Amino acid sequence: MMEPPSAVPLFSADMSHDNNKLAQSRLERLTRTLGELMDKAVQNERILRNFQQFELELLAVSSMEALLDSLLSNSLRHFRLDAAELWLFDPEFILRDLLSDELQQSVGLRWFEKDEELRALYPAQKVVRLAGPPPADLFPGRPVRSAALLPLVRQGALVGSLHFGAFAAKRFSIDKSTDFINHLASVVAVCLENCVNQERLHRLSLIDMLTRVENRRSFHLSMEREISRAIRQVEPLTVMLGDLDHFKQINDNHGHQVGDRVLHAVAQEIAAMLRKTDHVCRYGGEEFALILPNCDRELGIEIAERIRSRIADMRIASDSGIKVPTSLSLGVTCWTKPAADVSVISDRLVKRADEAVYRAKSNGRNRVEYLVFS
Ligand code: GH3
Ligand code: MG
Ligand code: MG
Repeated sequence: MMEPPSAVPLFSADMSHDNNKLAQSRLERLTRTLGELMDKAVQNERILRNFQQFELELLAVSSMEALLDSLLSNSLRHFRLDAAELWLFDPEFILRDLLSDELQQSVGLRWFEKDEELRALYPAQKVVRLAGPPPADLFPGRPVRSAALLPLVRQGALVGSLHFGAFAAKRFSIDKSTDFINHLASVVAVCLENCVNQERLHRLSLIDMLTRVENRRSFHLSMEREISRAIRQVEPLTVMLGDLDHFKQINDNHGHQVGDRVLHAVAQEIAAMLRKTDHVCRYGGEEFALILPNCDRELGIEIAERIRSRIADMRIASDSGIKVPTSLSLGVTCWTKPAADVSVISDRLVKRADEAVYRAKSNGRNRVEYLVFS
């Protein structure tokens, strides 16, 4: 007969001790993991709040100047970055046309007429890329060792790319999560579009639709700005008014449409002859006002004479092929003395230029008259 197997205790004092130790270490591990998770959650919450704060700042921005400032300068402080750059795709110079030369040349800003270089940054998908080290073209001359590349996408197309750089190699290592940065990339793209639209609207409100030069509202704003600048920099300021001669006859003889064509051509011709810093404005129906900063009496008269001569040589074709001649009478005045009230100077400059035009008309038209500012 077989002996019954010796009884094996289900539970022994030794085992109980081992199990306790196991449970204890599991508990410790769990507590540690939980602690780490809590730390991570707190850290994520902090990062999220930081991103949200920056996004709120971006959403409040309404000009390209403020947007560029946020993206290229404030972002450095906000996210403790070492470098930031923005690449923008602007094939038809639409964006650049809206910005001053100074803004176009902001540090960290680069313009592209072709999108190959931009697309090369996102070969697989148009999503945020963490790169350490960044592609060679990024951050020229800066010791950036890791970077976040944010694609700016509107209607499925890449319109730009925002780059955040760090000198530390691990700051943007590829194992980091990109959820927040992807969200930020979408917000930046929307803000960029919004700012461009705002700038366009602003621009439209200052432009005369027929001649495409500044309108009268813009003239007054430009006058205030330029007089203040002339006072600050102790520079002379020349103002001219030009009035087309016998313009009514052009309308009467060739039709209003030809008259419109003449107005457009004259405005554009004058604008093409002046510096970028000068202002050409349609002051009234067939009257133009010109503001020439840092321009004295002699140069003002010389420029006015050149404009007069060029306009007198112009021939605009009528619908029936007739070459329509036109001419311009110009009144010039120049302000050099410092004075306190900008609007008083502005009014007097226009009044004196207007009196000078009147004199040009009385003295036979197609001529330039100068009157001393008083
Ligand atoms: P003067 O040499 O004395 O300046 O004579 P003028 O005929 O140019 O001056 P006047 O003030 O008698 O006539 C100005 C004309 O300009 C009358 C007006 O119909 C015309 N005009 C004003 N605005 C426009 C416009 O937007 N388009 C066209 N085609 N004509 C305009
Ligand atoms: Mg007139
Ligand atoms: Mg006229």
